[in-house]
Formats: sequence, C-alpha cells, structure tokens
Amino acid sequence: MILLLLGPPGSGKGTQAKKLSAEHGWPQLSTGDMLRSAIARGTSLGERAKTYMDQGALVPDEVVIGLIEERIKEKDCTQGFILDGFPRNVAQAEELDRMLGRQGRRLDQVVLFEISDPELIERLSGRRTCEKCSSMYHLLHSMPRQDQVCDQCHGRLLQRSDDQPDVIRRRLGVYHQQTEPLVGFYRGQKKLVSLDARVSPSAVAEALNQSLN
Ligand code: AMP
Repeated sequence: MILLLLGPPGSGKGTQAKKLSAEHGWPQLSTGDMLRSAIARGTSLGERAKTYMDQGALVPDEVVIGLIEERIKEKDCTQGFILDGFPRNVAQAEELDRMLGRQGRRLDQVVLFEISDPELIERLSGRRTCEKCSSMYHLLHSMPRQDQVCDQCHGRLLQRSDDQPDVIRRRLGVYHQQTEPLVGFYRGQKKLVSLDARVSPSAVAEALNQSLN
C-alpha cells in the first residue's frame, strides 16, 4: 500500500502516520522530519533547507524530490509506505507519479484531512515535539506525564521554530496556495477520500482505517 496523507500543517497527519506505521509496518516518510534531521546533523542540505523552513516557505522541489527518491528505494519500502508532507505542490505530485512509474508502482490512495484555519492555529501554537523521536504533545489537550519530557523516550519536548504564530500563518497561506490544488489533482485521479480531522485522534484513526478498507 502506498498511501498519501494530505492536509494542512497541524491536521494530525504525522500522528496518524505513526499509528498506521506501527499497525501495518509501512514506514512513515515525512519530508519535514527528514529535513529537521538534516538540520540537526548540520548537513549542507539541512543548512540550505533551514532558511526556507524558518520562514514557513517550501524548500525547493529538487531537494525534497531527491530525498524521497532515495528513501523509497530502501528495502523497508518494498511492501509500501505512508507519505506525510510530500508532495506539497503539483510539480512534486507529478514527479512522484513519474518516480513510482519508473519502479512499476503507483500511489494507491490519498486521504485528505479536513480542518479549519482557526482550529489549526490553536493546535499548532500549543504543539510540542520530542527532539528525539518526534512524538507530538499539546499543552492543552495532550500533556506529557512529566513537564517537557517525552512519555515514549524521555527526550526533551521542544516547540518547533516554525510553530510560532506569524510563521504558522505563513505556512497556512502556503498550504492554501500551493498544496490545496492537489485536492483537485488527486480527485481527478479518483484516489481521494476525505475525513473530518477536527475529532479526537482515536476517532480520526477509526475513520482512516475505514477509508482504507
Ligand atoms: P512539516 O513538518 O511537514 O510541517 O514540514 C515543515 C517544513 O519543511 C515546511 O514548512 C517546509 O518548509 C518544509 N517541507 C516539508 N516537506 C516539504 C515538501 N514536500 N516540499 C517543500 N518543503 C517541505
């Protein structure tokens, strides 16, 4: 199964991708996580990406396309994978179709996470992420047991630099302008199903599992 979770930042794609990955064994391919890891490792790719990410802008297509193209060739991707945060525009989506085609594969399904901007702003500004395992918490709805410490791996919980209010607004603008056209793109390919992403993570997980069946 090659699955794409599509939706604005903060809609819960990452949380659901991790859950599905644990249940089915398909790896979660998050370009955001790959880029943050490159930044943490101090690579030149990370340095280049950071300037864009800190502004809430998209990193150039060739950077993320290169990352995904290499990643999907790895052995753990042979049974399928979950795309989370890629593609983010039509050019990336077209390139994804081409790269999968070269491997004799295709994208099976796209699930759209639907939620309004005000709800996203509330979610993102309270979001805290583990610097080690990228587990997600929220200051209001999903507090860690110990303040600022990850329940899973005891890593430190940090606020992402792009989860600041002005950057959040810019990221949402980028989503509406550049990523939302993918809804029409995948509807045209008859691969798109939508779900209500405003409900609890467990209710979203149930809807997601139903849409996969
Ligand atoms: P995310 O963790 O998916 O919210 O991504 C964080 C940031 O990484 C985005 O705001 C972009 O700057 C960058 N990024 C992640 N995925 C992509 C992509 N597919 N294309 C371009 N930039 C990306």
